[in-house]
Amino acid sequence: MAAQEYDYIVVGAGSAGCVLADQLSADGRATVLVLEAGGHDRRLWINMPIGYGKTFYDERVNWKFEAQPDPGLMDRRIYFPRGKVVGGSSSINAMVYCRGLPGDFDDWAAAGNRGWGWSDVAPVYDRFERRVDADGTPAAEGGPLFVSDVRRQLHPMARHFFAAATQAGLPLTEDFNGPAPEGVGRYHINTRRGMRWSAADAFLRPALRRGQVTLATGALAERIVFEGRKAVGVSYRQGGTRHTARARAAVVLSAGAIQSPQLLQLSGVGPGALLQRHGIAPVLVQEHVGAGLQDHLAMSYYYKATEPTLNNVLSSLWGKLRVGVQYVTTLGGPLSISVNQCGGFVRSHPDAPQADMQLYCNPITYTLAASKTGTQIVPDRFAGFILCFQPCRPLSRGQVEIAGPDAARAPIITPGYLSHPEDVAQALRGAQLIRRLENTEAMRGLIRAPIAPRLDTMDDAAMVEDFRNRASTCYHPVGSCTMGPDAATSVVDAELKVHGLEHLYVVDASVFPNVTSGNTHAPTTMVAHKGAQAILAAARG
Ligand SMILES: Cc1cc2nc3c(=O)[nH]c(=O)nc-3n(C[C@H](O)[C@H](O)[C@H](O)COP(=O)(O)OP(=O)(O)OC[C@H]3O[C@@H](n4cnc5c(N)ncnc54)[C@H](O)[C@@H]3O)c2cc1C
Repeated sequence: MAAQEYDYIVVGAGSAGCVLADQLSADGRATVLVLEAGGHDRRLWINMPIGYGKTFYDERVNWKFEAQPDPGLMDRRIYFPRGKVVGGSSSINAMVYCRGLPGDFDDWAAAGNRGWGWSDVAPVYDRFERRVDADGTPAAEGGPLFVSDVRRQLHPMARHFFAAATQAGLPLTEDFNGPAPEGVGRYHINTRRGMRWSAADAFLRPALRRGQVTLATGALAERIVFEGRKAVGVSYRQGGTRHTARARAAVVLSAGAIQSPQLLQLSGVGPGALLQRHGIAPVLVQEHVGAGLQDHLAMSYYYKATEPTLNNVLSSLWGKLRVGVQYVTTLGGPLSISVNQCGGFVRSHPDAPQADMQLYCNPITYTLAASKTGTQIVPDRFAGFILCFQPCRPLSRGQVEIAGPDAARAPIITPGYLSHPEDVAQALRGAQLIRRLENTEAMRGLIRAPIAPRLDTMDDAAMVEDFRNRASTCYHPVGSCTMGPDAATSVVDAELKVHGLEHLYVVDASVFPNVTSGNTHAPTTMVAHKGAQAILAAARG
């Protein structure tokens, strides 16, 4: 049977892939095939924001990777969730919407990537975002990605966190995505009328309705098909059958920071020794594919509280029923928002050139429990809350490598956490900052007792050891197919085309030259918009 032919093939229907499907087909003529290994996203626990805790370990929608034992983290293996479903990780993430700080993107431009500085990317965000005010009314102007102000839904305990921040000398801000992103405040989130608003909701479904986009679910891309150095298609497996589809204009990898480099390597584009080890014929030896992996580490401290928190609602059947009814009847209440309700971008020391620490304050504590259906997140039965920090701009880099030539086999993820000494220094500064917050009058009033391990009993060395023992990914892997001007040190150019190959692009979180200071869905969406424009421009010749 002749291979199906499209103008574009996009691998992965995640944060980036959904945007590409929309933008590449926007002229009403070009045809796009989107290959998504996961299944449909019409699931209660995806649509309902609090369902985050349910999809976190659900293999029906989550790749559930594990990283290699990490020397920086006492040889622990970190659990590495990634969305395996239409919408990708935007269907299972915590919905926090942060563009990143201007300096993050100015550093992209300073690394030689023309057109990626803050003044270039800010207008792109403006075009695709649509702000929703605290009443739930969307702005008259804007794009399809809803960014909601949930100030009315915040748990009342947030007021103590804001007071503690002020007492600790930290500034407050109204909007992390506004003109003054630095400070402590509430997170805006991707919801619409109390429901998750993923990349699939914002971008893919409107594109599917136009009719030129074909979405293949349960379709695992196995290899890029090349003619010489030109990508001409993708071979994929769907329902036990192998297919090949051809692309007239371009193949776009949007399989995320773990699987875009995996697919390149499987297809013969990667480090020479790795390809040889797995018997893969090289199309292009490219040492940097998979090499620049970066991720945020987050560290949480747990406290028993002197006043009720979400635990008091979510740990009892009656409480769950009550907020469940509230949700069903009003699409409001605690089930309608993220557990990451407030936090901040702040400087942990006066010499920091920009905010260097992201904070979270969540009105919940929990334990993990094994059950017949897998690991479950179980809220504690006492009032409790979490303070958490995440160093904004870690410098450590790790890598992603295939474990073998079989596309179904999970890649080897080696994050290299804390391999850069500055990241160890930042871990300590973050812990000291949380202790500063703990010591404020407002926090002393809210904390009934810290839950061990207690920061107040630790010296500097113990804080770092505790970080190595307990810190974990904040689920923001990027940089494994870095953008840069030089093929010797990067994988794609500023148009996101793979150096040395034709008709092949990587457009997703893999291309970040450095991780942005905050959560990575927003900047990935921005990257996809700019990537789509570059691909369309190239196709126009
Ligand atoms: C648990 C969790 C919580 C998070 N919380 C937040 C948050 O609150 N705010 C925020 O901004 N960011 C958050 N993130 C990060 C953010 O969601 C990601 O950075 C972003 O979604 C990455 O987009 P992407 O397009 O690069 O990859 P993804 O969205 O992961 O998309 C990749 C897609 O490709 C598919 N795919 C992979 N390999 C293949 C293949 N071979 N064939 C076919 N399909 C394939 C995958 O199934 C997936 O659908 C979170 C992530 C996770 C996992």
